[in-house]
Amino acid sequence: IYQSSNFEFSSVADFRAAMANEIDLPIYTRGANPTVRLLEKKLAALQGTEDALCFGSGSAAVAAAVLSFLRTGDHVVCVSGAYSWTQKLFNPLLSKFGVDVTYVDGRNALEVEAAFTPQTRMLYLESPTSITFACQDVRALAALAKQKKVVSLIDNTYGSILNTFPVEVGVDVIIHSATKFISGHSDVVAGVVCASKEVIKKIFYGEYMTLGATLSPHDAWLLIRSLRTIEIRMRQGEGQAQLISDFLQQHPAFTFVHDPFSTSHPDYSIAKEQFKYRIPMFSFEVNSNDEKQIEVFCNELKFIRLGVSWGGYESLLIPTIVFPHRNYPVSLMRLYVGFESGKLLCDDLHQAAVKSGIIAEG
Ligand SMILES: *Cc1c(COP(=O)(O)O)cnc(C)c1O
Repeated sequence: IYQSSNFEFSSVADFRAAMANEIDLPIYTRGANPTVRLLEKKLAALQGTEDALCFGSGSAAVAAAVLSFLRTGDHVVCVSGAYSWTQKLFNPLLSKFGVDVTYVDGRNALEVEAAFTPQTRMLYLESPTSITFACQDVRALAALAKQKKVVSLIDNTYGSILNTFPVEVGVDVIIHSATKFISGHSDVVAGVVCASKEVIKKIFYGEYMTLGATLSPHDAWLLIRSLRTIEIRMRQGEGQAQLISDFLQQHPAFTFVHDPFSTSHPDYSIAKEQFKYRIPMFSFEVNSNDEKQIEVFCNELKFIRLGVSWGGYESLLIPTIVFPHRNYPVSLMRLYVGFESGKLLCDDLHQAAVKSGIIAEG
């Protein structure tokens, strides 16, 4: 771990050389730090891009990547249901500087195309989307962006590194919140932008150095540790999530399961084509519209914890009744399936449904 804020030089010539090539030669840790740079090389390799750049959070990575391509008067086409703070970046933040955004249903290619204007400079994707898990045909939309000569970005946090490779189907910039699956231990907040050497260099000398949302060397080291188990963690989630999704779909206490990896879901064929592994997360609805009862159901869960984020060892539930803005049905909740036994989690959901009176005992 290069736990240093700055690096010394043995000669003026070396110092001058570093000043001319700060992305490769460490000077100061707001720029290139060797531990962080090592992590970036590994992440680029896993995501199949030429290079990568890490940030102190996923939202910092999103902001730096988006800002690097936009100026006043530009227009962005973004999928509806994108991560909430990404939407807040477009509006109110970028709208203050004269950048417009149009949200589209990413599953409808005609709607996406119709949203383009002569001012459109960016297509922003996230597949599947937050909370509702709608999948886009990333290949078709990347081709549309190419045809329209606009840059395409994708938030691939849910899609996951090692699991889907948007660059192979023509997406220009791939962003992850490394806080989630990449960290995998609920102990780091971080983000990464994966792209060509040219794009990474542009962001490095621009938004990265200017905004200064760097990742600490210690957190980079924790993420390097996490990469050693990423494939095993990905495989562990598959069977568990399938078991629980199947359980919810046949259980009378639960109605809809929004799971694109379930054969009955309208996006199943896209999910099947686009992802190597099943994403261990979905949302579902309980068979009740009584908010008090839904609250009791959540409070009665013993092993599934209430909390945001995902990708760690522990199963986590977000009931949408906690959101200050009520954009969802009260019965909707998101479940991330961790590494507890699938049977234990199914039993937990069942007992909470009984205790809350959503179903009768038995
Ligand atoms: C969590 C998350 C982010 C933001 O990442 P932070 O590390 O929390 O800043 C962005 N996009 C998606 C899809 C996320 O889940």
